[in-house]
Amino acid sequence: MLNFDTYRIEMEILEKIKALSEKFSAEVILSRRHLHANPELSYQEYNTVKYVAGQLTAFGIEVQEGVATTGLVAEIKGKNPTKKSIALRADMDALPIVEANNVEYKSRVPGVMHACGHDVHTASLLGTAKILHSIKEHFEGTVRLLFQPGEEKTPGGASYMIRDGALSNPQPSGIIGQHVFPFLPVGKIGFREGMYMASCDEIYLKVIGKGGHAAAPDLAIDPILIASHIIIALQQIISRHANPKQPTVLSFGKISGEGATNIIPNEVLVAGTFRALNEEWRATALQKIRKMAEGIAEGMGGKCEVDISKGYPYLENNPDLTRRIRTAAEAYVGSENVVNIDITLAAEDFAYYSQVIPASFYRLGTSNPAKGITSYVHTPTFNIDEDALKIGPGLMAWMAIKELE
Ligand SMILES: [Zn+2]
Ligand SMILES: [Zn+2]
Repeated sequence: MLNFDTYRIEMEILEKIKALSEKFSAEVILSRRHLHANPELSYQEYNTVKYVAGQLTAFGIEVQEGVATTGLVAEIKGKNPTKKSIALRADMDALPIVEANNVEYKSRVPGVMHACGHDVHTASLLGTAKILHSIKEHFEGTVRLLFQPGEEKTPGGASYMIRDGALSNPQPSGIIGQHVFPFLPVGKIGFREGMYMASCDEIYLKVIGKGGHAAAPDLAIDPILIASHIIIALQQIISRHANPKQPTVLSFGKISGEGATNIIPNEVLVAGTFRALNEEWRATALQKIRKMAEGIAEGMGGKCEVDISKGYPYLENNPDLTRRIRTAAEAYVGSENVVNIDITLAAEDFAYYSQVIPASFYRLGTSNPAKGITSYVHTPTFNIDEDALKIGPGLMAWMAIKELE
């Protein structure tokens, strides 16, 4: 039962977090700008992690460096630290994109840009850490901070963080991740319970035939024709074998055969992506892709070598955890600013955590059409309305406090 006293104390903590969030916001924005100007590619976040470690240490928080090589784990212990623990995650890597924004904090590294907002996630979690550290007398339990490398590149930094024990000793009761979202205006927060993002596997096909003169196809085995049949046939896996109630997609974005108008080439390379929101279907579909491609090539007198590079699993937002942090967000930003978001077939390595412990990945609104901030992530003009950084740090701190209750 929530009696009046507990309610009053809770509201005091909420107000305290909001005040600290306001107090630290200029510093959080400076952190974000520093990170934005100095981006590093996946698994090369050496200076970024050094900066994060320096900041946390300056706040008085102990850090464990070298997790997943360029990752870091830190803990903020409240009273009775072994009572319960909750993990919060930020990713730190940038993308191989040439920044086209004309801002004073524009990337200083040629060809590298924080175009997915991981600078925002890192700065926001630093802000969260500073807030939580300032109020550690007011909560019981431990908040574990995960600053991970390599979200943008398989096999995914999250898998190395788990391998290096980021979710053990003791295992946190849950993990929360935040991601910028240009589809939502600044001020709004988006949630989704259950399946949210897709698994993502890369499919490489090498169709081998026998090259020859285009005018004498009877003397050749045409890999162009075989590859064409394979590409069309594989769409049957989506349209005839997949459960129509389950989102799934197979797209080929690359096909190359080094022939000419009058030359049938020896081989054709085809590359694509397979995505799903169900691990059982994912395994079945990958098997069918392999079997069908090999079978068609063989039936047509050629050969198909199928190479499947498995990527991130699908991301499941634990319904109970998501409902609780959503309620916390409603208290923090007002229920009119909390919205439902749809499934997406994009992938995110936070999914690995969701395979181990209850996890929830929510979206921080970052666009502002009035200021011309509308570009999508992974584009050279991506940017955020930094007012989002007046919300993100405190919101996550409040969620963590509520989870430790
Ligand atoms: Zn990204
Ligand atoms: Zn991202």
